[in-house]
Amino acid sequence: MDLFAHYAVGMFLYKIFGSYWAIVFAVILDIDHVLGYIYENAIKKKEMKEVPRIAYFVYSKRTWLHSFLGLALLLILFGYKFSPLMIIVCVGSHLLLDSLDKIGIEILPFISKKRLKGPFPVAYKWDHPGEGSRKHQSSISIATTAIFLALFFFL
Ligand SMILES: [Zn+2]
Repeated sequence: MDLFAHYAVGMFLYKIFGSYWAIVFAVILDIDHVLGYIYENAIKKKEMKEVPRIAYFVYSKRTWLHSFLGLALLLILFGYKFSPLMIIVCVGSHLLLDSLDKIGIEILPFISKKRLKGPFPVAYKWDHPGEGSRKHQSSISIATTAIFLALFFFL
């Protein structure tokens, strides 16, 4: 799903939990796309040949952050400050939506290569040429966005 869909779900969850942080936790995993973009465009172009191996794990697109490990990490980092239930539901909504497309999410990175994935085309096509069609990706993300915006405004 694209960022708009995650954001719309976050707005709906904000209504449920009564905290703007619900929106943050619903979209926060996509920070790895941003980091990946910066990594690809700023660092790789300069031909830094000795990029630490850890950078590969942290900065490639839809990384291990999109996994139950990422959820556990956020729970450890923020669980003392925010409702753990809110973190699980909001981050879980992100994982669920992203697990619906063909790239999917890793289940337990570093331990297993198993992925959770569905039949839908990938929403951020520019990352993955050849995965699905633009028409489908936008209609699924737009539909998700519309449904959750409607829930936000009319519930
Ligand atoms: Zn994502």
